[in-house]
Amino acid sequence: MSGRPLRLLILEDRPEDADLALRQLRRAGFDPTWRRVEDEEGFRANLDPELDLIIADYHQPQFDALRALKLMQEAGLDIPFVLVSGAVGEDMAVAAVRLGAVDYVLKDRLGRLGTAVENALEQAKLRRRQQEGQKALEHQALHDGLTDLPNRLMFRQQIEKGLAERASLAVLVLDLDNFREINDTFGHKIGDGLLGQIAPRLREHVDSRDLIARLGGDEFGILLRDTDAAHAMGVAESLLRVERPFLIEGHPLEVTASIGIAVFPQHGSTAETLLQRADVALYVAKRPGNSAAVYRHEDDPYDPSRVALQADLRQAIARREIILYYQPQVAIATGEVTGFEALARWRHTQRGWIPPVEFIPVAERMGLIKPLTACLVELAARQVVAWQRSGISIPVAVNVSMRNLLDPRFPATLKEIVATSGTPARQIKLEITESALMTEPARVLETMNELRAIGFGFSIDDFGTGYSSLAYLQRLPVEEIKIDRSFVGELSNNAGSGAIVRATIELAGGLGLDVVAEGVEDESTWQSLGRLGCSTAQGYFLSRPMPPSEVEGWLAEWSKRSDRLQAA
Ligand code: C2E
Ligand code: CA
Ligand code: CA
Repeated sequence: MSGRPLRLLILEDRPEDADLALRQLRRAGFDPTWRRVEDEEGFRANLDPELDLIIADYHQPQFDALRALKLMQEAGLDIPFVLVSGAVGEDMAVAAVRLGAVDYVLKDRLGRLGTAVENALEQAKLRRRQQEGQKALEHQALHDGLTDLPNRLMFRQQIEKGLAERASLAVLVLDLDNFREINDTFGHKIGDGLLGQIAPRLREHVDSRDLIARLGGDEFGILLRDTDAAHAMGVAESLLRVERPFLIEGHPLEVTASIGIAVFPQHGSTAETLLQRADVALYVAKRPGNSAAVYRHEDDPYDPSRVALQADLRQAIARREIILYYQPQVAIATGEVTGFEALARWRHTQRGWIPPVEFIPVAERMGLIKPLTACLVELAARQVVAWQRSGISIPVAVNVSMRNLLDPRFPATLKEIVATSGTPARQIKLEITESALMTEPARVLETMNELRAIGFGFSIDDFGTGYSSLAYLQRLPVEEIKIDRSFVGELSNNAGSGAIVRATIELAGGLGLDVVAEGVEDESTWQSLGRLGCSTAQGYFLSRPMPPSEVEGWLAEWSKRSDRLQAA
Protein backbone atom coordinates (compact mmCIF):
# COMPACT_ATOMS: atom_id res chain seq x y z
CA MET A 1 0.00 0.00 0.00
CA SER A 2 1.48 3.34 -0.93
CA GLY A 3 -0.06 6.44 0.62
CA ARG A 4 0.70 10.13 0.33
CA PRO A 5 4.39 10.81 0.85
CA LEU A 6 5.12 12.85 3.94
CA ARG A 7 8.59 14.06 5.00
CA LEU A 8 8.26 14.13 8.72
CA LEU A 9 10.31 15.18 11.71
CA ILE A 10 9.21 13.82 15.08
CA LEU A 11 10.32 15.47 18.31
CA GLU A 12 9.67 12.76 20.89
CA ASP A 13 11.84 11.14 23.53
CA ARG A 14 9.77 7.93 23.63
CA PRO A 15 10.12 5.71 20.54
CA GLU A 16 6.90 3.87 21.31
CA ASP A 17 4.91 7.14 21.25
CA ALA A 18 6.48 7.97 17.90
CA ASP A 19 5.37 4.58 16.60
CA LEU A 20 1.83 5.22 17.73
CA ALA A 21 1.76 8.51 15.90
CA LEU A 22 3.20 6.96 12.74
CA ARG A 23 0.61 4.23 12.81
CA GLN A 24 -2.14 6.84 12.95
CA LEU A 25 -0.65 8.70 10.01
CA ARG A 26 -0.44 5.56 7.89
CA ARG A 27 -4.00 4.78 8.76
CA ALA A 28 -4.98 8.25 7.56
CA GLY A 29 -3.41 7.45 4.18
CA PHE A 30 0.11 8.88 4.56
CA ASP A 31 3.38 7.20 3.72
CA PRO A 32 5.80 9.01 6.00
CA THR A 33 9.55 9.22 5.60
CA TRP A 34 10.60 10.20 9.09
CA ARG A 35 13.29 10.97 11.61
CA ARG A 36 12.91 11.11 15.33
CA VAL A 37 14.89 13.59 17.42
CA GLU A 38 14.98 14.10 21.19
CA ASP A 39 16.85 17.32 21.84
CA GLU A 40 17.76 20.75 20.51
CA GLU A 41 20.90 19.54 18.79
CA GLY A 42 19.04 16.81 16.94
CA PHE A 43 16.22 19.17 16.07
CA ARG A 44 18.55 21.80 14.61
CA ALA A 45 20.47 19.20 12.63
CA ASN A 46 17.35 17.81 11.01
CA LEU A 47 15.39 20.99 10.43
CA ASP A 48 15.19 21.60 6.71
CA PRO A 49 12.91 23.55 4.38
CA GLU A 50 11.77 20.45 2.52
CA LEU A 51 9.97 18.99 5.53
CA ASP A 52 6.22 18.56 5.13
CA LEU A 53 5.47 18.36 8.79
CA ILE A 54 6.82 18.48 12.32
CA ILE A 55 5.07 16.75 15.16
CA ALA A 56 6.33 17.40 18.66
CA ASP A 57 5.61 16.17 22.12
CA TYR A 58 4.96 19.08 24.37
CA HIS A 59 6.52 17.50 27.41
CA GLN A 60 10.08 17.02 26.38
CA PRO A 61 12.50 16.59 29.28
CA GLN A 62 15.40 18.77 27.94
CA PHE A 63 13.79 20.61 25.07
CA ASP A 64 10.29 21.89 25.00
CA ALA A 65 8.09 22.27 21.95
CA LEU A 66 7.70 26.03 22.33
CA ARG A 67 11.46 26.41 21.98
CA ALA A 68 11.37 24.18 18.89
CA LEU A 69 8.71 26.41 17.34
CA LYS A 70 10.83 29.47 18.01
CA LEU A 71 13.87 27.84 16.43
CA MET A 72 11.88 27.01 13.34
CA GLN A 73 10.64 30.56 13.00
CA GLU A 74 14.09 31.97 13.55
CA ALA A 75 15.30 29.77 10.70
CA GLY A 76 12.72 31.54 8.54
CA LEU A 77 10.79 28.34 8.00
CA ASP A 78 7.05 27.86 7.87
CA ILE A 79 6.52 24.13 8.31
CA PRO A 80 3.20 22.76 9.56
CA PHE A 81 3.72 22.02 13.23
CA VAL A 82 1.40 19.78 15.25
CA LEU A 83 1.72 19.27 18.99
CA VAL A 84 1.09 15.79 20.32
CA SER A 85 0.88 15.77 24.02
CA GLY A 86 -0.28 14.29 27.26
CA ALA A 87 -2.58 16.51 29.22
CA VAL A 88 -1.71 20.02 28.26
CA GLY A 89 -2.99 23.06 30.01
CA GLU A 90 -5.22 25.29 27.97
CA ASP A 91 -2.96 28.30 28.39
CA MET A 92 -0.02 26.24 27.12
CA ALA A 93 -2.02 25.21 24.09
CA VAL A 94 -2.96 28.81 23.40
CA ALA A 95 0.65 29.90 23.70
CA ALA A 96 1.72 27.19 21.26
CA VAL A 97 -0.92 28.05 18.69
CA ARG A 98 0.02 31.68 18.97
CA LEU A 99 3.61 30.84 18.27
CA GLY A 100 2.56 29.13 15.10
CA ALA A 101 1.72 25.57 16.02
CA VAL A 102 -1.18 24.74 13.81
CA ASP A 103 -2.92 22.29 16.04
CA TYR A 104 -2.54 20.06 19.03
CA VAL A 105 -3.68 16.51 19.65
CA LEU A 106 -3.92 14.79 23.00
CA LYS A 107 -2.04 11.50 23.26
CA ASP A 108 -5.12 9.74 24.53
CA ARG A 109 -7.12 10.96 21.52
CA LEU A 110 -4.52 10.11 18.91
CA GLY A 111 -7.25 9.02 16.48
CA ARG A 112 -7.60 12.73 15.67
CA LEU A 113 -4.00 13.02 14.45
CA GLY A 114 -4.76 12.15 10.80
CA THR A 115 -7.37 14.92 10.51
CA ALA A 116 -5.18 17.41 12.35
CA VAL A 117 -2.32 16.74 9.93
CA GLU A 118 -4.62 17.00 6.90
CA ASN A 119 -5.78 20.39 8.16
CA ALA A 120 -2.27 21.56 8.91
CA LEU A 121 -1.07 20.60 5.41
CA GLU A 122 -4.09 22.25 3.81
CA GLN A 123 -3.50 25.46 5.72
CA ALA A 124 0.18 25.46 4.81
CA LYS A 125 -0.76 25.10 1.16
CA LEU A 126 -3.11 28.06 1.45
CA ARG A 127 -0.43 30.15 3.15
CA ARG A 128 2.02 29.27 0.39
CA ARG A 129 -0.46 30.26 -2.31
CA GLN A 130 -1.14 33.51 -0.56
CA GLN A 131 2.54 34.27 -0.31
CA GLU A 132 3.08 33.46 -3.96
CA GLY A 133 0.14 35.65 -4.90
CA GLN A 134 1.54 38.40 -2.74
CA LYS A 135 4.95 38.04 -4.36
CA ALA A 136 3.44 38.09 -7.84
CA LEU A 137 1.51 41.23 -6.94
CA GLU A 138 4.63 42.86 -5.59
CA HIS A 139 6.54 41.86 -8.69
CA GLN A 140 3.78 43.21 -10.88
CA ALA A 141 3.70 46.48 -8.99
CA LEU A 142 7.43 46.93 -9.43
CA HIS A 143 7.97 45.55 -12.93
CA ASP A 144 7.00 46.39 -16.44
CA GLY A 145 4.65 43.88 -18.06
CA LEU A 146 6.23 43.92 -21.50
CA THR A 147 9.92 43.57 -20.70
CA ASP A 148 9.71 42.31 -17.11
CA LEU A 149 12.26 44.97 -16.23
CA PRO A 150 11.93 46.97 -13.01
CA ASN A 151 9.49 49.84 -13.61
CA ARG A 152 9.65 53.52 -12.72
CA LEU A 153 8.40 52.90 -9.17
CA MET A 154 11.12 50.38 -8.44
CA PHE A 155 13.70 52.57 -10.15
CA ARG A 156 12.75 55.39 -7.78
CA GLN A 157 12.87 53.08 -4.79
CA GLN A 158 16.33 51.91 -5.75
CA ILE A 159 17.55 55.48 -6.21
CA GLU A 160 16.19 56.28 -2.76
CA LYS A 161 17.96 53.25 -1.33
CA GLY A 162 21.21 54.39 -2.93
CA LEU A 163 20.72 57.90 -1.58
CA ALA A 164 20.14 56.54 1.92
CA GLU A 165 23.54 54.86 1.71
CA ARG A 166 25.03 58.26 0.82
CA ALA A 167 27.13 56.71 -1.95
CA SER A 168 27.59 58.71 -5.14
CA LEU A 169 25.30 57.60 -7.93
CA ALA A 170 24.22 58.55 -11.41
CA VAL A 171 20.75 58.43 -12.91
CA LEU A 172 20.72 57.93 -16.68
CA VAL A 173 17.55 58.31 -18.70
CA LEU A 174 17.77 56.78 -22.17
CA ASP A 175 15.22 57.53 -24.84
CA LEU A 176 15.05 55.97 -28.30
CA ASP A 177 15.16 58.62 -31.01
CA ASN A 178 13.12 57.01 -33.72
CA PHE A 179 10.86 54.62 -31.86
CA ARG A 180 7.62 56.20 -32.98
CA GLU A 181 8.62 55.90 -36.63
CA ILE A 182 9.53 52.26 -36.15
CA ASN A 183 6.18 51.62 -34.50
CA ASP A 184 4.31 53.44 -37.24
CA THR A 185 6.22 51.76 -40.05
CA PHE A 186 6.46 48.19 -38.81
CA GLY A 187 3.63 47.95 -36.33
CA HIS A 188 3.37 47.55 -32.57
CA LYS A 189 4.47 43.93 -32.56
CA ILE A 190 7.85 44.83 -34.02
CA GLY A 191 8.03 47.85 -31.73
CA ASP A 192 7.38 45.69 -28.67
CA GLY A 193 9.95 43.17 -29.87
CA LEU A 194 12.49 45.95 -30.12
CA LEU A 195 11.77 47.20 -26.60
CA GLY A 196 12.36 43.66 -25.34
CA GLN A 197 15.82 43.62 -26.89
CA ILE A 198 17.02 46.92 -25.50
CA ALA A 199 17.78 45.81 -21.95
CA PRO A 200 20.00 42.86 -22.87
CA ARG A 201 22.03 45.21 -25.08
CA LEU A 202 22.35 47.75 -22.29
CA ARG A 203 23.35 44.99 -19.87
CA GLU A 204 26.49 44.31 -21.89
CA HIS A 205 27.82 47.74 -20.94
CA VAL A 206 26.99 48.12 -17.27
CA ASP A 207 28.03 46.44 -14.07
CA SER A 208 25.83 43.56 -12.89
CA ARG A 209 24.85 45.52 -9.76
CA ASP A 210 23.68 48.49 -11.83
CA LEU A 211 19.94 48.64 -12.32
CA ILE A 212 18.21 48.84 -15.69
CA ALA A 213 14.55 49.80 -15.68
CA ARG A 214 11.85 50.64 -18.19
CA LEU A 215 10.44 54.00 -17.20
CA GLY A 216 7.64 53.93 -19.74
CA GLY A 217 7.19 54.09 -23.50
CA ASP A 218 10.59 53.95 -25.12
CA GLU A 219 12.33 55.40 -22.08
CA PHE A 220 14.77 53.38 -20.00
CA GLY A 221 16.54 54.21 -16.76
CA ILE A 222 19.99 53.10 -15.69
CA LEU A 223 21.19 53.55 -12.13
CA LEU A 224 24.96 53.53 -11.69
CA ARG A 225 26.51 53.32 -8.25
CA ASP A 226 29.80 54.73 -6.93
CA THR A 227 30.28 56.97 -9.91
CA ASP A 228 30.66 60.56 -11.02
CA ALA A 229 29.54 62.65 -13.99
CA ALA A 230 32.62 61.89 -16.09
CA HIS A 231 32.38 58.15 -15.58
CA ALA A 232 28.61 58.18 -16.17
CA MET A 233 29.21 60.06 -19.41
CA GLY A 234 31.70 57.37 -20.44
CA VAL A 235 29.13 54.66 -19.73
CA ALA A 236 26.48 56.62 -21.65
CA GLU A 237 28.77 56.87 -24.64
CA SER A 238 29.45 53.15 -24.63
CA LEU A 239 25.71 52.47 -24.32
CA LEU A 240 25.03 54.62 -27.35
CA ARG A 241 27.65 52.85 -29.40
CA VAL A 242 25.24 50.03 -30.21
CA GLU A 243 26.28 49.68 -33.80
CA ARG A 244 24.75 46.33 -34.64
CA PRO A 245 21.24 46.86 -35.93
CA PHE A 246 18.49 45.03 -34.09
CA LEU A 247 17.01 42.07 -35.88
CA ILE A 248 13.31 41.69 -35.16
CA GLU A 249 11.28 39.09 -37.06
CA GLY A 250 13.77 39.37 -39.88
CA HIS A 251 13.69 43.18 -39.98
CA PRO A 252 17.04 44.80 -39.35
CA LEU A 253 16.29 48.02 -37.45
CA GLU A 254 18.72 50.89 -37.00
CA VAL A 255 18.06 52.39 -33.62
CA THR A 256 19.66 55.45 -32.09
CA ALA A 257 19.10 56.84 -28.63
CA SER A 258 19.83 59.84 -26.42
CA ILE A 259 20.83 59.85 -22.77
CA GLY A 260 20.40 62.47 -20.05
CA ILE A 261 22.47 62.20 -16.87
CA ALA A 262 22.05 63.56 -13.35
CA VAL A 263 24.45 62.78 -10.55
CA PHE A 264 24.17 62.63 -6.75
CA PRO A 265 25.33 64.69 -4.90
CA GLN A 266 25.95 67.52 -7.43
CA HIS A 267 22.55 67.65 -9.10
CA GLY A 268 20.14 66.71 -6.38
CA SER A 269 19.54 64.65 -3.29
CA THR A 270 16.12 63.15 -3.93
CA ALA A 271 15.04 60.56 -6.47
CA GLU A 272 12.48 63.00 -7.79
CA THR A 273 14.98 65.80 -8.44
CA LEU A 274 17.52 63.46 -9.99
CA LEU A 275 14.96 61.95 -12.36
CA GLN A 276 13.66 65.33 -13.33
CA ARG A 277 17.14 66.73 -13.90
CA ALA A 278 18.14 63.69 -15.97
CA ASP A 279 15.07 64.55 -18.07
CA VAL A 280 16.27 68.12 -18.50
CA ALA A 281 19.64 66.77 -19.64
CA LEU A 282 17.86 64.34 -21.98
CA TYR A 283 16.14 67.27 -23.61
CA VAL A 284 19.55 68.81 -24.29
CA ALA A 285 20.90 65.46 -25.49
CA LYS A 286 18.10 65.32 -28.07
CA ARG A 287 19.36 68.45 -29.81
CA PRO A 288 21.09 67.82 -33.14
CA GLY A 289 24.75 66.99 -32.72
CA ASN A 290 24.32 65.75 -29.13
CA SER A 291 23.51 62.26 -27.95
CA ALA A 292 24.35 62.28 -24.26
CA ALA A 293 24.37 65.20 -21.85
CA VAL A 294 25.02 65.77 -18.18
CA TYR A 295 22.58 68.05 -16.36
CA ARG A 296 23.50 71.72 -16.37
CA HIS A 297 21.81 74.28 -14.23
CA GLU A 298 21.60 76.77 -17.10
CA ASP A 299 19.55 74.39 -19.26
CA ASP A 300 16.97 73.87 -16.58
CA PRO A 301 13.59 75.54 -16.95
CA TYR A 302 12.37 73.94 -13.67
CA ASP A 303 15.19 75.12 -11.49
CA PRO A 304 13.48 76.81 -8.52
CA SER A 305 15.43 80.04 -8.80
CA ARG A 306 14.67 79.98 -12.49
CA VAL A 307 10.96 79.50 -11.92
CA ALA A 308 11.01 82.62 -9.79
CA LEU A 309 12.99 84.34 -12.53
CA GLN A 310 10.29 83.49 -15.06
CA ALA A 311 7.58 85.25 -13.13
CA ASP A 312 9.80 88.29 -12.63
CA LEU A 313 10.94 88.37 -16.24
CA ARG A 314 7.46 88.87 -17.61
CA GLN A 315 7.04 91.87 -15.33
CA ALA A 316 10.49 93.21 -16.01
CA ILE A 317 9.81 93.31 -19.73
CA ALA A 318 6.45 94.94 -19.25
CA ARG A 319 7.94 97.53 -16.89
CA ARG A 320 10.97 98.05 -19.12
CA GLU A 321 13.43 97.15 -16.39
CA ILE A 322 15.72 95.48 -18.89
CA ILE A 323 17.98 98.08 -20.39
CA LEU A 324 20.94 98.28 -22.76
CA TYR A 325 24.61 98.87 -22.13
CA TYR A 326 26.81 99.80 -25.05
CA GLN A 327 30.24 98.52 -25.97
CA PRO A 328 32.26 100.35 -28.61
CA GLN A 329 33.76 98.84 -31.74
CA VAL A 330 36.84 100.50 -33.15
CA ALA A 331 38.64 100.36 -36.52
CA ILE A 332 42.11 99.08 -35.67
CA ALA A 333 43.91 100.93 -38.46
CA THR A 334 42.51 104.38 -37.70
CA GLY A 335 41.14 104.27 -34.16
CA GLU A 336 37.77 105.46 -35.46
CA VAL A 337 34.72 104.34 -33.46
CA THR A 338 32.62 102.43 -35.99
CA GLY A 339 29.76 101.20 -33.85
CA PHE A 340 28.35 100.11 -30.51
CA GLU A 341 27.04 96.72 -29.58
CA ALA A 342 23.94 96.93 -27.41
CA LEU A 343 23.98 94.34 -24.61
CA ALA A 344 20.97 93.61 -22.45
CA ARG A 345 21.21 94.25 -18.70
CA TRP A 346 18.63 93.47 -16.05
CA ARG A 347 18.85 95.07 -12.66
CA HIS A 348 16.56 92.90 -10.59
CA THR A 349 15.04 94.67 -7.60
CA GLN A 350 16.03 91.90 -5.18
CA ARG A 351 18.70 89.91 -6.90
CA GLY A 352 20.83 92.64 -8.35
CA TRP A 353 22.33 92.38 -11.84
CA ILE A 354 21.34 89.29 -13.74
CA PRO A 355 23.56 88.57 -16.77
CA PRO A 356 21.94 88.03 -20.17
CA VAL A 357 23.25 84.46 -20.43
CA GLU A 358 20.87 83.69 -17.55
CA PHE A 359 17.70 85.44 -18.62
CA ILE A 360 17.85 85.36 -22.44
CA PRO A 361 17.48 81.54 -22.61
CA VAL A 362 14.60 81.76 -20.12
CA ALA A 363 12.91 84.40 -22.24
CA GLU A 364 13.39 82.18 -25.28
CA ARG A 365 11.79 79.20 -23.63
CA MET A 366 8.92 81.21 -22.20
CA GLY A 367 8.05 82.75 -25.54
CA LEU A 368 9.04 86.15 -24.19
CA ILE A 369 11.92 86.73 -26.56
CA LYS A 370 9.65 88.40 -29.14
CA PRO A 371 8.44 91.19 -26.85
CA LEU A 372 11.89 91.45 -25.27
CA THR A 373 13.73 91.88 -28.57
CA ALA A 374 11.12 94.32 -29.81
CA CYS A 375 11.53 96.30 -26.61
CA LEU A 376 15.33 96.36 -26.89
CA VAL A 377 15.39 97.26 -30.57
CA GLU A 378 13.10 100.16 -29.74
CA LEU A 379 15.41 101.25 -26.94
CA ALA A 380 18.44 101.07 -29.25
CA ALA A 381 16.62 102.94 -32.01
CA ARG A 382 15.73 105.76 -29.61
CA GLN A 383 19.33 105.88 -28.43
CA VAL A 384 20.58 106.22 -31.99
CA VAL A 385 18.26 109.21 -32.47
CA ALA A 386 19.35 110.76 -29.16
CA TRP A 387 23.04 110.48 -30.09
CA GLN A 388 22.36 111.87 -33.52
CA ARG A 389 20.83 114.93 -31.88
CA SER A 390 24.04 115.48 -29.95
CA GLY A 391 26.14 115.08 -33.06
CA ILE A 392 27.19 111.48 -32.64
CA SER A 393 26.34 109.39 -35.67
CA ILE A 394 27.28 105.83 -34.84
CA PRO A 395 25.38 102.64 -35.75
CA VAL A 396 24.27 100.24 -33.05
CA ALA A 397 24.30 96.44 -33.24
CA VAL A 398 21.49 94.57 -31.47
CA ASN A 399 21.54 90.85 -30.69
CA VAL A 400 18.72 88.88 -32.20
CA SER A 401 17.75 85.39 -31.17
CA MET A 402 17.04 82.51 -33.51
CA ARG A 403 13.41 82.51 -32.45
CA ASN A 404 13.05 86.05 -33.69
CA LEU A 405 14.19 84.96 -37.12
CA LEU A 406 11.63 82.17 -37.18
CA ASP A 407 8.86 84.65 -36.38
CA PRO A 408 7.20 85.68 -39.66
CA ARG A 409 6.01 88.96 -38.13
CA PHE A 410 9.50 89.99 -36.99
CA PRO A 411 10.36 92.15 -40.04
CA ALA A 412 7.07 94.03 -39.81
CA THR A 413 7.55 94.61 -36.09
CA LEU A 414 11.03 96.06 -36.58
CA LYS A 415 9.89 98.16 -39.51
CA GLU A 416 7.27 99.79 -37.35
CA ILE A 417 9.73 100.40 -34.53
CA VAL A 418 12.28 102.21 -36.67
CA ALA A 419 9.55 104.17 -38.42
CA THR A 420 8.06 105.33 -35.11
CA SER A 421 11.38 106.32 -33.58
CA GLY A 422 12.58 108.05 -36.75
CA THR A 423 15.79 106.00 -36.98
CA PRO A 424 17.13 105.02 -40.38
CA ALA A 425 17.19 101.20 -40.44
CA ARG A 426 20.75 101.19 -41.78
CA GLN A 427 21.90 102.62 -38.44
CA ILE A 428 20.85 99.34 -36.85
CA LYS A 429 22.74 96.14 -37.36
CA LEU A 430 21.32 92.80 -36.28
CA GLU A 431 23.71 90.27 -34.75
CA ILE A 432 22.76 86.69 -35.47
CA THR A 433 24.68 83.79 -34.02
CA GLU A 434 26.18 81.30 -36.39
CA SER A 435 24.22 78.43 -34.82
CA ALA A 436 20.90 80.24 -35.41
CA LEU A 437 21.67 80.39 -39.12
CA MET A 438 22.10 76.66 -39.31
CA THR A 439 18.86 75.68 -37.58
CA GLU A 440 16.38 76.43 -40.33
CA PRO A 441 18.38 78.03 -43.12
CA ALA A 442 15.51 78.44 -45.57
CA ARG A 443 13.15 80.27 -43.20
CA VAL A 444 15.94 82.30 -41.66
CA LEU A 445 17.13 83.39 -45.09
CA GLU A 446 13.63 84.52 -46.00
CA THR A 447 13.35 86.66 -42.87
CA MET A 448 16.81 88.09 -43.41
CA ASN A 449 15.98 89.12 -46.95
CA GLU A 450 12.85 90.92 -45.78
CA LEU A 451 14.81 92.73 -43.08
CA ARG A 452 17.52 93.61 -45.56
CA ALA A 453 14.89 95.10 -47.85
CA ILE A 454 13.85 97.40 -44.98
CA GLY A 455 17.47 98.49 -44.61
CA PHE A 456 18.86 96.53 -41.65
CA GLY A 457 22.41 95.23 -41.80
CA PHE A 458 23.61 91.87 -40.49
CA SER A 459 26.55 90.62 -38.56
CA ILE A 460 27.33 86.95 -37.85
CA ASP A 461 28.04 86.56 -34.15
CA ASP A 462 30.31 84.01 -32.44
CA PHE A 463 31.83 83.01 -35.77
CA GLY A 464 33.99 79.91 -35.58
CA THR A 465 31.92 78.11 -32.96
CA GLY A 466 29.46 76.60 -35.45
CA TYR A 467 29.91 74.71 -38.65
CA SER A 468 28.86 77.20 -41.28
CA SER A 469 31.23 77.77 -44.13
CA LEU A 470 32.15 81.17 -45.37
CA ALA A 471 30.90 80.07 -48.79
CA TYR A 472 27.46 79.56 -47.26
CA LEU A 473 27.57 82.99 -45.62
CA GLN A 474 28.18 84.47 -49.05
CA ARG A 475 24.64 83.56 -50.04
CA LEU A 476 23.27 85.54 -47.10
CA PRO A 477 22.74 89.30 -46.93
CA VAL A 478 25.61 89.67 -44.48
CA GLU A 479 28.37 92.25 -44.43
CA GLU A 480 30.24 91.42 -41.26
CA ILE A 481 31.39 88.51 -39.15
CA LYS A 482 32.47 88.59 -35.52
CA ILE A 483 35.23 86.19 -34.57
CA ASP A 484 34.25 84.54 -31.31
CA ARG A 485 36.11 85.78 -28.26
CA SER A 486 37.25 82.27 -27.36
CA PHE A 487 39.64 82.41 -30.36
CA VAL A 488 40.59 86.03 -29.94
CA GLY A 489 41.43 85.65 -26.27
CA GLU A 490 43.78 82.79 -27.09
CA LEU A 491 45.41 84.56 -29.99
CA SER A 492 48.78 85.14 -28.39
CA ASN A 493 49.20 81.82 -26.56
CA ASN A 494 47.47 79.24 -28.72
CA ALA A 495 48.74 78.50 -32.23
CA GLY A 496 45.45 76.79 -33.24
CA SER A 497 43.37 79.82 -32.36
CA GLY A 498 45.87 82.01 -34.18
CA ALA A 499 45.44 79.90 -37.31
CA ILE A 500 41.64 80.13 -37.13
CA VAL A 501 41.69 83.90 -36.68
CA ARG A 502 44.20 84.36 -39.50
CA ALA A 503 42.29 82.09 -41.93
CA THR A 504 38.95 83.75 -41.09
CA ILE A 505 40.34 87.22 -41.68
CA GLU A 506 41.87 86.22 -45.02
CA LEU A 507 38.81 84.36 -46.32
CA ALA A 508 36.41 87.07 -45.14
CA GLY A 509 38.55 89.68 -46.87
CA GLY A 510 38.29 87.69 -50.09
CA LEU A 511 34.51 87.68 -49.77
CA GLY A 512 34.32 91.37 -49.01
CA LEU A 513 33.16 90.87 -45.41
CA ASP A 514 34.25 93.06 -42.49
CA VAL A 515 35.73 91.25 -39.54
CA VAL A 516 35.15 92.27 -35.93
CA ALA A 517 37.28 90.56 -33.33
CA GLU A 518 35.40 90.28 -30.01
CA GLY A 519 37.00 89.94 -26.62
CA VAL A 520 40.09 92.04 -27.26
CA GLU A 521 41.41 92.40 -23.75
CA ASP A 522 44.93 93.76 -24.12
CA GLU A 523 47.19 95.80 -26.29
CA SER A 524 49.21 92.86 -27.61
CA THR A 525 46.03 91.23 -28.99
CA TRP A 526 45.02 94.55 -30.49
CA GLN A 527 48.41 94.83 -32.19
CA SER A 528 48.43 91.23 -33.49
CA LEU A 529 44.94 91.68 -34.94
CA GLY A 530 46.13 94.82 -36.70
CA ARG A 531 49.03 92.94 -38.22
CA LEU A 532 46.68 90.14 -39.34
CA GLY A 533 44.55 92.66 -41.21
CA CYS A 534 41.50 92.52 -38.95
CA SER A 535 39.36 95.60 -39.57
CA THR A 536 37.61 96.08 -36.22
CA ALA A 537 38.06 95.29 -32.54
CA GLN A 538 35.69 95.13 -29.58
CA GLY A 539 36.56 94.26 -26.01
CA TYR A 540 37.60 95.29 -22.53
CA PHE A 541 40.84 96.76 -23.89
CA LEU A 542 38.74 99.49 -25.47
CA SER A 543 35.93 99.57 -22.95
CA ARG A 544 33.57 97.43 -20.98
CA PRO A 545 29.92 97.76 -21.95
CA MET A 546 28.67 101.02 -20.39
CA PRO A 547 25.37 102.77 -19.78
CA PRO A 548 24.51 105.33 -22.48
CA SER A 549 25.12 108.18 -20.05
CA GLU A 550 28.85 107.34 -20.04
CA VAL A 551 29.30 107.12 -23.79
CA GLU A 552 30.05 110.77 -24.51
CA GLY A 553 32.72 110.90 -21.82
CA TRP A 554 34.27 107.70 -23.10
CA LEU A 555 34.37 109.02 -26.68
CA ALA A 556 36.35 112.05 -25.54
CA GLU A 557 38.78 109.90 -23.54
CA TRP A 558 39.16 107.49 -26.41
CA SER A 559 40.18 110.06 -28.97
CA LYS A 560 43.17 110.97 -26.76
CA ARG A 561 44.06 107.35 -26.05
CA SER A 562 43.67 106.43 -29.68
CA ASP A 563 46.15 109.08 -30.79
CA ARG A 564 48.72 107.64 -28.38
CA LEU A 565 48.00 104.08 -29.63
CA GLN A 566 48.36 105.11 -33.27
CA ALA A 567 51.64 106.82 -32.48
CA ALA A 568 53.00 103.72 -30.75
P1 C2E B 1 27.81 88.24 -27.32
O1 C2E B 1 26.85 88.76 -28.30
O2 C2E B 1 28.94 87.42 -27.81
O3 C2E B 1 28.27 89.49 -26.49
C1 C2E B 1 29.58 89.73 -26.12
C2 C2E B 1 29.77 89.38 -24.70
O4 C2E B 1 31.16 89.45 -24.40
C3 C2E B 1 29.11 90.37 -23.73
O5 C2E B 1 28.68 89.63 -22.58
C4 C2E B 1 30.26 91.30 -23.36
O6 C2E B 1 30.08 91.92 -22.12
C5 C2E B 1 31.40 90.32 -23.32
N1 C2E B 1 32.69 90.95 -23.57
C6 C2E B 1 32.93 92.09 -24.25
N2 C2E B 1 34.24 92.35 -24.29
C7 C2E B 1 34.86 91.36 -23.64
C8 C2E B 1 36.22 91.05 -23.33
O7 C2E B 1 37.17 91.77 -23.71
N3 C2E B 1 36.48 89.92 -22.65
C9 C2E B 1 35.47 89.10 -22.24
N4 C2E B 1 35.82 88.00 -21.55
N5 C2E B 1 34.17 89.34 -22.50
C10 C2E B 1 33.87 90.46 -23.20
P2 C2E B 1 27.23 89.80 -22.05
O8 C2E B 1 26.81 91.21 -22.14
O9 C2E B 1 27.20 89.11 -20.76
O10 C2E B 1 26.37 89.01 -23.11
C11 C2E B 1 26.49 87.66 -23.21
C12 C2E B 1 25.66 87.15 -24.33
O11 C2E B 1 24.27 87.35 -24.09
C13 C2E B 1 25.92 87.87 -25.64
O12 C2E B 1 27.04 87.35 -26.21
C14 C2E B 1 24.66 87.58 -26.39
O13 C2E B 1 24.72 86.28 -26.98
C15 C2E B 1 23.61 87.53 -25.32
N6 C2E B 1 22.91 88.80 -25.30
C16 C2E B 1 23.27 89.95 -24.70
N7 C2E B 1 22.33 90.90 -24.92
C17 C2E B 1 21.39 90.34 -25.69
C18 C2E B 1 20.18 90.81 -26.29
O14 C2E B 1 19.78 91.96 -26.16
N8 C2E B 1 19.45 89.94 -27.01
C19 C2E B 1 19.85 88.66 -27.21
N9 C2E B 1 19.09 87.87 -27.95
N10 C2E B 1 20.99 88.18 -26.69
C20 C2E B 1 21.76 89.02 -25.94
CA1 CA C 1 26.71 89.84 -29.97
CA1 CA D 1 29.72 87.12 -29.69
